[in-house]
Amino acid sequence: MFQGIAERLSEISSKIQAACHQAQRSEDGIRLVAVSKLQSMDVINEAYALGINNFGENYAQELAEKSLACPKDIIWHFIGPIQSNKINLIAKHANWVHSIDREKVARKLNDALETEGKKIHALVQVNIDREESKSGILPEEAVDFINELNAHYPNLILEGLMFMPKINASKNAKMDTMKKIIDLQKSLLSELPGCTHLSLGTSSDFEESILTGSTILRIGESLLGKRS
Ligand SMILES: *Cc1c(COP(=O)(O)O)cnc(C)c1O
Repeated sequence: MFQGIAERLSEISSKIQAACHQAQRSEDGIRLVAVSKLQSMDVINEAYALGINNFGENYAQELAEKSLACPKDIIWHFIGPIQSNKINLIAKHANWVHSIDREKVARKLNDALETEGKKIHALVQVNIDREESKSGILPEEAVDFINELNAHYPNLILEGLMFMPKINASKNAKMDTMKKIIDLQKSLLSELPGCTHLSLGTSSDFEESILTGSTILRIGESLLGKRS
């Protein structure tokens, strides 16, 4: 059966509602980011018309083009790897950046934001499963790293942590990862109580991620359809 974005949104919303109920959390504490990388402007406009106004992009050039062409009240999240030569574009067009993973990137972004005269909501990406193929700060370094950024880069409004855990791990390994994420967030909050956000969960694991405490879900294909 054909399913449009409206039907998929209503299915996802029910699942979010059920997971929040199970976790005894309020739905107000969850922000849904529609991951629109490699999706057309038509798809974004259709989702926007349904009330979605947070979108996530992985490529700086694509973010720039879309943010110029789309409604101005969209909140753009940059969630992809940050290349040094694209930092000016990200500073200009994103409202949130989820993928800060090196001091150099933080410094350059802070400088670019100074030039733009704006601030950005920032999350630090943590490589929780210590995978060689993934970027991110090692978990044991994350709290010190955020403290450093907080002390030196005033244009980054530090909001918390971002994770991309292994999605096809065994059930036990996933439980172990969840526990590590919860512990890490606790130790961060004890030093920086404002870092309340947790960007965790994609199409395949957003319900579990709500149980882990996610506040920002990054959902792509199960909401907007297959990427071209
Ligand atoms: C593409 C992407 C997503 C969305 O993945 P889906 O499987 O389409 O939901 C979420 N987070 C990041 C960092 C991504 O690159």
